[in-house]
Amino acid sequence: MKYSEIYAYNIAHNLCPFCSLPENFYLEKSEYFSVTYARAPYTKDHLLIIPNRHVVLFNSLSHEEVRNLMDLVSKWTEILHKEHTDIALLLRDWFIWGSWWKSVDHMHFHLIPDVEVWSIHWCWPSREYLSEKELLKHIAEVKKLEKKPVKSTAKK
Ligand SMILES: [Zn+2]
Repeated sequence: MKYSEIYAYNIAHNLCPFCSLPENFYLEKSEYFSVTYARAPYTKDHLLIIPNRHVVLFNSLSHEEVRNLMDLVSKWTEILHKEHTDIALLLRDWFIWGSWWKSVDHMHFHLIPDVEVWSIHWCWPSREYLSEKELLKHIAEVKKLEKKPVKSTAKK
């Protein structure tokens, strides 16, 4: 299934997919943010960090929420480094009718391994939307990755 079909459905029904994420889709749920596998991933192990409350603008977050967010960015970047070298952090705030292919009002962050950031725009129209089975398989793989020992990042 194509992500563009899901996007159209959500718009038509005024649905926020991040306000109704099933509990088993979370890799981690903390006090203010949750981490999940991107349902329409740009690359393998593409994760999303999403505020638990429906927020559109980054500047609506409290300092406490930002602190929680940065703890999760740090933790999950380290986990992704077990399998990947470059990790891109991408903030998506503002409303969906902005200029840059934003598909969900609910502000969120992407942790995207192994991607040249400029290329995201070009792969958007062909993004696949994972079935629940595929998504849960990826979540299980990343949970295994979470348990792997951390590689030393110190240069010799
Ligand atoms: Zn929402």
